[in-house]
Amino acid sequence: MTPTNSPAPQSAENPPADPQALLVWYDRHRRSLPWRAPAGSRADPYRVWLSEIMLQQTTVQAVKPYYERFLARFPDVESLAEAPQDAVMQAWAGLGYYSRARNLHACAKVVADDHGGRFPADEDALRALPGIGTYTAAAVAAIAFDIPAAAVDGNVERVVSRLIALEELLPGAKPRIRTVTQAMVPQERAGDFAQAMMDLGATICTPKRPACALCPWMADCTARREGLQESFPRKAKKAPREVRHGAAFVAERADGAVLLRTRPSSGLLGGMAEVPGSDWRADYPLSQAILDAPCEARWRRLPGIVRHVFTHFPLELTIFHARLDRHAQAPDGMRFSAAEELAEEALPSVMRKVLVHALPGWDAPAVAKAAKRGAAAEKGAGKKK
Ligand code: SF4
Repeated sequence: MTPTNSPAPQSAENPPADPQALLVWYDRHRRSLPWRAPAGSRADPYRVWLSEIMLQQTTVQAVKPYYERFLARFPDVESLAEAPQDAVMQAWAGLGYYSRARNLHACAKVVADDHGGRFPADEDALRALPGIGTYTAAAVAAIAFDIPAAAVDGNVERVVSRLIALEELLPGAKPRIRTVTQAMVPQERAGDFAQAMMDLGATICTPKRPACALCPWMADCTARREGLQESFPRKAKKAPREVRHGAAFVAERADGAVLLRTRPSSGLLGGMAEVPGSDWRADYPLSQAILDAPCEARWRRLPGIVRHVFTHFPLELTIFHARLDRHAQAPDGMRFSAAEELAEEALPSVMRKVLVHALPGWDAPAVAKAAKRGAAAEKGAGKKK
């Protein structure tokens, strides 16, 4: 590509940069990732799909250990389809965005039951599967089947918006970015091109201080020529996130068992285990807590609060603790989890924090590790892959 002072309008006939230059760069600098096939060979669709679902809103570093453990436990789509939902949620616990795990399980069942255990080699058919959206369908189609599909995630949005110095704001600019990306997807090596775009965004065209001198598209990049790389992509301002408050109740039976319940299967943390608690809302008067307690007991408010940041809001929980008689029965819809089994429950990071706060020394190393891992995964929202 020859640099010009005024970039030509982009169309399918006029890609802004040469895909072959990117592929040459990729052949030398591709990242080694556990879900990637060796150079020159076709990737397993199950592994591509699993990694792409895990990588949604989550960093590569956070995903790697989960991916390895998940694959060891569910090595193929049939074993995942046959697993109980609890086992899937437990394997996912700490990775965040739990609707992904429910959809993952549902998708595996559809692939096993309706597609003979094989992912369809068709972008539209992939998009019709549970939990597979436009980006994931394109990524699996390209990487697993070499279909020339445009897989546009946050990394690609950044690279393309810089290449053409796109003034239009995200998310409104998405269709334009898709059209421009599609114009660059080669008919051959479409899977490598998709992965090369991911690698370029993750390692060279980073959100801050992109390494333009190492970029195979440096000569083609309008933002680089104008010295405005970091100002792209342009984004619409987000509304400030309001803190929510609530109470959580840790009821500890004399034998160490802890009262738990399962959250509704849809919605935030759907299907995950939790200690009973109140709704989470902008204003939570603590006088309300006695009404929200799951059972009658000598509830003691613990000092301090537990903070957790979800994608759409920060949460602050006040923790109450009570000791119950060893013969105490669980209220309807709840259960006691034995002390030695608690760490194996499908507890999201926020609930692990609550238990660590309320039960000093409870499985401290394992829980701290899981909470840290989970927090890293959950905080990876929107970060580069
Ligand atoms: S030249 Fe710089 S800003 Fe442009 S695509 Fe390459 S790394 Fe990104």
